[in-house]
Amino acid sequence: MQTYRNTVDGNLAEPASRYEIFNPANGQSLGYAPESDEQEVDRAVHAALLAQKTWAKRSDGERRDITLKIAQILEDNSGYLAELLTREQGKPLSGPGSRFEMQACVGWTQVPASLELPPETVYEDDERKDTLHRVPLGVVAAVAPWNWPLMIAIWQIIPAIRMGNTVVLKPSEYTPIATLEMVRLISEALPPGVLNTVTGDGNIGSKLTHHPDISKIMFTGSEATGRHIVKASASNLAPITLELGGNDAAIVLPGTDIKRIANDLFWGAFLNMGQTCACIKRLYVQEDDYEAVMSELSAIASQMKIGDGMDESVLIGPLQNKMQFEKVRNLVSDARSAGCDVREFGEVPEQGYFLPITLVGNIMDGQRLVDEEQFGPALPIIRYRELDDAFESANRLDAGLGASLWTDRPEETIELATRLEAGTVWVNQHGAIHPMVPFGGNKASGYGVEFGIDGLKAVTQSRVISIKK
Ligand code: NAD
Repeated sequence: MQTYRNTVDGNLAEPASRYEIFNPANGQSLGYAPESDEQEVDRAVHAALLAQKTWAKRSDGERRDITLKIAQILEDNSGYLAELLTREQGKPLSGPGSRFEMQACVGWTQVPASLELPPETVYEDDERKDTLHRVPLGVVAAVAPWNWPLMIAIWQIIPAIRMGNTVVLKPSEYTPIATLEMVRLISEALPPGVLNTVTGDGNIGSKLTHHPDISKIMFTGSEATGRHIVKASASNLAPITLELGGNDAAIVLPGTDIKRIANDLFWGAFLNMGQTCACIKRLYVQEDDYEAVMSELSAIASQMKIGDGMDESVLIGPLQNKMQFEKVRNLVSDARSAGCDVREFGEVPEQGYFLPITLVGNIMDGQRLVDEEQFGPALPIIRYRELDDAFESANRLDAGLGASLWTDRPEETIELATRLEAGTVWVNQHGAIHPMVPFGGNKASGYGVEFGIDGLKAVTQSRVISIKK
């Protein structure tokens, strides 16, 4: 069985120890992931620190060309990486699955390559001229989750290196190997030390984020871990981009044509088996529309084939790990014991972390499946009477990543949309992120944004040059 390797200072590192990774669809071994020790974290950060000085001196054009080369490598290897990702993460090859994730990796590399942050004149009069320059921060610690492991790693790596930083990336301990392979491949385009990886659980993440030579932390994961990251940054004063969990509400406005929106609602909730930060996790529908929503979503759910994502006809795979599988099962069983209307769809294979697509009706705010982030294929559908009540429900939790409104009159929704407390409010779509559009959370879903020009600014510091005339 193959042992996958970390990339440290341009070399594949001999692992201190290793652990086995299993396919969540069938339990088969995929090989071994390396497990870094604290010395490896030091080596990786040191290599990144040394490499950063020369990397930052490269011209903007050179870094752009290298970033474009990385996009090409990702494209050339997308078949290999997508298959590895399906085996490791569970999302199917087809539909909005692993191939889709690889296309996103290419796009989120090409777009930052094409953007520039030239110096801005922020003030000028007869006596002075002040220009603001964007310079790199130094070494970026990137800590990633297991749900979209390659795409989220790319969101962290590419803007950072594009702007002259170097990176030490720690993938999730649940999904390290496709990420390690991606880094091994794209490192061919990069000088040694610009992109390094370390692997392991939260202890290695903690060692990395506390490291005195880290100048920026990019973190995507749960709210609980986010709080540890904020504490870590007290030791090195590294600014943080904090992308945390969500419990996104979607509100269907009264009288909306349900048939027209049903398919987008379905995928808004069940993308990646619901293991997506900005998925619909609570669906609010007016009582008169409730039956129509239930029946349209049921009709779509009953057509979905659940199984091993290597099968091209499968669109719904397993959950990624046992912890998440148990958590979702638990939330559904809690709803069932409370007398909710639990409707399950799809034939579930016996082996693997598979769950049926689950719609849960007759459920209310305050029940666990509504109030806790389920991060799985179980959608609570909550009735409302007055629209104001739905807005109050949507805003009552601490999470504020995304939200959506569904309507036949999208042009009339701007004022309503601004009432929702979320980093992004989508209208007639959900989770529709774009590499040019800033994305980040409000409230307990984090702070800072990724993507577009604002995302690039987040991996730089400002340096003002003030000249007396
Ligand atoms: P998690 O917080 O358990 O783990 C994320 C990463 O943090 C892993 O690499 C883990 O090893 C590391 N880690 C754990 N403890 C640490 C510590 N003390 N110090 C440093 N690193 C530590 O999250 P997860 O279960 O992998 O991901 C699921 C969560 O991520 C969900 O809540 C989801 O909504 C959220 N998420 C948010 C976004 C977003 O963009 N806002 C995107 C994807 C996922």
